[in-house]
Amino acid sequence: MAHLHFIVDDDLCYGCGACIGLCPTNALSMKGLLAIVEQSQCTYCELCIPSCPVDALLIETR
Ligand code: SF4
Ligand code: SF4
Repeated sequence: MAHLHFIVDDDLCYGCGACIGLCPTNALSMKGLLAIVEQSQCTYCELCIPSCPVDALLIETR
């Protein structure tokens, strides 16, 4: 059984904050200059993903 997993690539994220306000479930927040996700609140809607200028956001299937 595959599980979805929301990833912030912390090598790419530079803390611009563009993704944070877009999340309808407030799953994203800033920790210093890094976006972090509360995995249990993410619905994998993908709404935030195109907002990232450096493509740091992705959804993985594990
Ligand atoms: S995929 Fe959707 S629910 Fe998950 S962090 Fe992005 S906007 Fe929020
Ligand atoms: S939009 Fe991208 S670079 Fe900006 S805070 Fe979100 S993950 Fe980081």
